[in-house]
Amino acid sequence: MVAHSRAESLLVHLDDDGVERFDALVCTDGKEIRGDLLLLSCGVGARSEFAQLSGLEVATGILVDGTLQSWRDPAIFAIGDCAQVASRRAPGATSAAPLGGPSGLIGPGWRQADWLAARFTADILQAADDVGPGDLAAERPALVMLKAHGIAVVAAGSIAPEPWGEPSDHGGAHTGDGGSAPLRVAQWVDPQHGRYVKMVTRGGILEVFVCVGMPRTAAELTLLFERGSELPADRSVLLRYDGPDYEASSSSDRFALDATVCWCNGVSVGAIAELAAAGETTVACVGSATRAGTGCGGCKGRIGEVIARFTSSVDGELVG
Ligand SMILES: Cc1cc2nc3c(=O)[nH]c(=O)nc-3n(C[C@H](O)[C@H](O)[C@H](O)COP(=O)(O)OP(=O)(O)OC[C@H]3O[C@@H](n4cnc5c(N)ncnc54)[C@H](O)[C@@H]3O)c2cc1C
Repeated sequence: MVAHSRAESLLVHLDDDGVERFDALVCTDGKEIRGDLLLLSCGVGARSEFAQLSGLEVATGILVDGTLQSWRDPAIFAIGDCAQVASRRAPGATSAAPLGGPSGLIGPGWRQADWLAARFTADILQAADDVGPGDLAAERPALVMLKAHGIAVVAAGSIAPEPWGEPSDHGGAHTGDGGSAPLRVAQWVDPQHGRYVKMVTRGGILEVFVCVGMPRTAAELTLLFERGSELPADRSVLLRYDGPDYEASSSSDRFALDATVCWCNGVSVGAIAELAAAGETTVACVGSATRAGTGCGGCKGRIGEVIARFTSSVDGELVG
């Protein structure tokens, strides 16, 4: 059946605006599956068969504890896309698979690699004054930016909460002062123009969002998310960033020193500005020094903007 139904090509037509619109999928056997929209749902999965055959405990990834040590064998550690960090099952507890899974993103894997390397180094040196790397910091909810031409999508956290759902139904992301306050959902949908925004707040603080087709609003929400800032009481203010009357001066400062530029590696404007002031004025130099731009690569343009901004500031003084 797979041999016959594998999709081989697409049929499209040009609409009145000259934009290609989906008509049908053409299968290997020539069959055409017609539709209004082609939706691709892609994901990644850990190839953990080898680990499983070796006797390690595996759920969606190799199960490791908060120190990245495999549950089953203390001599084996796992990181990155094949590792699922979860608290060890209590003795006698049921064997239900832990929730969650590998992040499927490059940044968390690199942070795990750095931390594990520091831990191994400390173990090897066994120096009395070497206290090791401390605890591995819990990952914040990932901020994911789609890097597809012509469509701006940015999302952070689980967007499951619904505007009319039970406020108590959903867990949150940040654990700030909002504490046990209920989650509140504001949503705006404009399918005709390919725009969609959902903002989930707790105590007014943005915990989760998704923003489609509105790049300036997405940039603003990203800044508010990373700072754990309170949203304006009138949420519609945020939608106006992508409106025709937008004024750049009214948005948050994208060059503030604490603003994140490279989300894969957690590199801030300030870190890049310091390098720029010290004469590291190319994207490649900044990448070598900080890894910024060497993960998904989606921030390279913005690294260039930050370099340009701080190279041209007076005497390299940081003014963000
Ligand atoms: C198309 C695509 C786009 C992506 N875009 C992004 C993005 O924009 N941002 C982002 O953060 N992440 C992105 N990711 C995810 C990111 O690439 C992964 O999270 C990251 O590469 C995981 O790193 P890793 O070292 O754990 O695994 P990998 O990078 O998969 O490295 C594992 C290595 O092990 C090797 N290997 C496997 N089995 C064996 C074996 N038996 N013996 C020896 N070697 C073996 C493999 O060949 C591979 O080189 C994307 C992934 C894909 C597939």
